[in-house]
Amino acid sequence: METRYFETFDIHASLLGFGAMRLPVTPDGKIDRKRALAMMREAYEAGVNYFDTAYPYHGGESEPLVGEFLSGLDRSTFYVATKLPQWSVHSIDDAKRIFEEQLARLQQSYIDFYLIHSIDKKAFDRMVDLGVVTYLEEEQKKGRIKHLGFSFHSIYEDFEYITRFRPWDFIQIQYNYLDTEEQAGDKGYELCTELGIPLIVMEPIKGGSLTRLSPDLEAKLKALDADATPASYALRWVADHPNVKVILSGMSTEEQVRENLQTFSPYKPLNENERAVLQEIANSMRSRIGNNCTGCKYCMPCPSGVDIPGNFALWNKYRMFDNYEVVKNQWEQKSDEDKRPPSCTECGQCIPLCPQHIDIPTDLTQVQEELEAARVAYYNK
Ligand code: SF4
Ligand code: SF4
Repeated sequence: METRYFETFDIHASLLGFGAMRLPVTPDGKIDRKRALAMMREAYEAGVNYFDTAYPYHGGESEPLVGEFLSGLDRSTFYVATKLPQWSVHSIDDAKRIFEEQLARLQQSYIDFYLIHSIDKKAFDRMVDLGVVTYLEEEQKKGRIKHLGFSFHSIYEDFEYITRFRPWDFIQIQYNYLDTEEQAGDKGYELCTELGIPLIVMEPIKGGSLTRLSPDLEAKLKALDADATPASYALRWVADHPNVKVILSGMSTEEQVRENLQTFSPYKPLNENERAVLQEIANSMRSRIGNNCTGCKYCMPCPSGVDIPGNFALWNKYRMFDNYEVVKNQWEQKSDEDKRPPSCTECGQCIPLCPQHIDIPTDLTQVQEELEAARVAYYNK
């Protein structure tokens, strides 16, 4: 198993980290404990020593299961990461209560990597104002948190603001060969490298989407090596970045565990040709998008409740992959129905607010037409 060295705190972590957010489940939606424990065991025995979970994963079931697994291991042989659900923290007492609960669920006296979960500037400022960041620093002084960081899914400007705010031990970002200009992206990678902050990467295969390339694009990879999978190329692309110390993969099946272990044992850097083909695939996917929405949210809130950037993100994803399955669950989510394009009254309020000059109501109509046509075609096939 390939390992990476965290110079700043002198530890070696496995480059492949086990993400416990998409564990196998039984038909009633509960974690399939037997399979999940066996998968973690197999990864651990092959050299994986970084296990990542979070308070809300699997409706709160993930942390206790990871704790059960880790409780049987020598404490010096693994690192455990978990995250504070900042959206549930409304007072300093909430943060304290949740942290104690997490230690108990994980059966640990300390957490190796503790993150404020999925923050943007607004959420981070709230954590500072509530005294949560100071509280976490105190826990770090006591040794109950070894390394303090945050995970991030918002826009680059927020990323830079939070990153420069204090000396973080590490940061977790979404990064893959398609998301180089999204969220933290290449600029975030470079900033952290310049500041000496090691990175943990999540979504290296974009939630599995990069395993579902359209047939013409998948053929380009098959032409390089008929046996290599799209996922292995995506993982190797991330691994080629030396400031990435751990790549998290949310593994759901035994096959995925084995395939990932194979990719990193040992990991083979991409050659020039492979890199060029991935770049070509990314360019081709980007050229298919519907509009240039950056997710900045300057158009929000919409008085009618439409989630403007959310709809455009789904539309662009659908077009890039030319595959309804990659957006199916999000598009069909009942709780989001009021946020969908039919709620738009075409008031026009959002149009002058968009720095990308997108004709928002017109594009929303297009989103609705295309995704509904794709949905109908999907169920009629
Ligand atoms: S035009 Fe539609 S999306 Fe834009 S603010 Fe009005 S209702 Fe909302
Ligand atoms: S539609 Fe325009 S303003 Fe709204 S999130 Fe996208 S880019 Fe930003």
